[in-house]
Amino acid sequence: MFNAILIEKDADGYRASVQPVDESRLPEGDVTVRVAYSTLNYKDGLAITGKGPVVRSFPMVPGIDLVGTVEASSHASVAVGDTVVLNGWGVGETHWGGLAQKARLKGDWLVPLPAAFTPQQAMAIGTAGYTAMLCVLALERQGVTPASGDVLVTGAAGGVGSVAVALLAKLGYRVVASTGRPAEGAYLTELGAAEIVDRATLSAPGKPLARERWAAAVDSVGSHTLANVCAGLRYRGVVAACGLAQGMDFPATVAPFILRGVTLAGVDSVMCPREDRLEAWSRLGRDLDPAKLALIGSREISLAEAIPTAAAVLAGQVRGRVVVDVNR
Ligand code: NDP
Repeated sequence: MFNAILIEKDADGYRASVQPVDESRLPEGDVTVRVAYSTLNYKDGLAITGKGPVVRSFPMVPGIDLVGTVEASSHASVAVGDTVVLNGWGVGETHWGGLAQKARLKGDWLVPLPAAFTPQQAMAIGTAGYTAMLCVLALERQGVTPASGDVLVTGAAGGVGSVAVALLAKLGYRVVASTGRPAEGAYLTELGAAEIVDRATLSAPGKPLARERWAAAVDSVGSHTLANVCAGLRYRGVVAACGLAQGMDFPATVAPFILRGVTLAGVDSVMCPREDRLEAWSRLGRDLDPAKLALIGSREISLAEAIPTAAAVLAGQVRGRVVVDVNR
């Protein structure tokens, strides 16, 4: 038996609770992992509370991220005793996830824990930090360099945004951080932002083209914000778009694309191919300053505490990252 958060949906409604689960109920997979830590992402908040259609089959163990030790493996390149990290692949949505003491997974989904990080640090980074790195890689693939000019980060005080600010500053970019929380200005400056802008200047409906301001951007906000980012990019600017904190819509025109040659680079972490994941984790090991990771901060909670904390994450009441010790 092992403990897990189980999400159930039936005639009695939608609910999440910690339950002892028999190992025979674990899903198909060629690797069994003794989970050490998971984390709480926005998506896990939606899954646990039922406020968004994240869970595709019931009962479900949530948790889109996990780190742990391989207990059994029939996969050629995953050995018993390996410490592995998993992000995404539909885990916690369609396949039982990381908010449990055990998980059975496909070996192809796993990446080795980078030597630069402890298991707790890997979960403090989580999908949010790994996605921030994918965004930076997307900008680099489009030829963006620190010499190109300012880089805007929207949702800067959030999980993706904070890591993006820290990474870009370390790489030598002049970072402009957009936030709706003026109180976080000092924090963003300490992370490496050279300039703070009020997110209200980007979140209302804007013009098809605006003054050319940024060479590149990392956007985790979507909606009018992404439209205004595109309108304010410099000639041949690039935006890596990964999120929808403001909304799923994209009320833009083609003007920035056809008149300024702007590139909109989509970033998905869930089905991202293995080589890109390995590159992202290795680059996080090189380019994410551990002092900045400590500044972003994480607190550790138990499996049972993850349930009420999920609602607080959705309500925007949680600052920094939450690491879940599934064994307490
Ligand atoms: P957080 O909740 O930690 O951060 C989101 C930030 O967005 C907030 O901190 C806030 O920044 C800003 N924000 C929130 N609401 C609004 C609003 N109404 N208008 C404008 N800005 C707003 O979430 P994450 O950083 O973990 O994730 C950010 C987004 O990226 C989410 O939509 C998430 O689903 C998505 N995501 C996508 C992934 C992918 O694979 N494509 C992977 C991971 C996340 P501030 O306080 O600074 O204003």
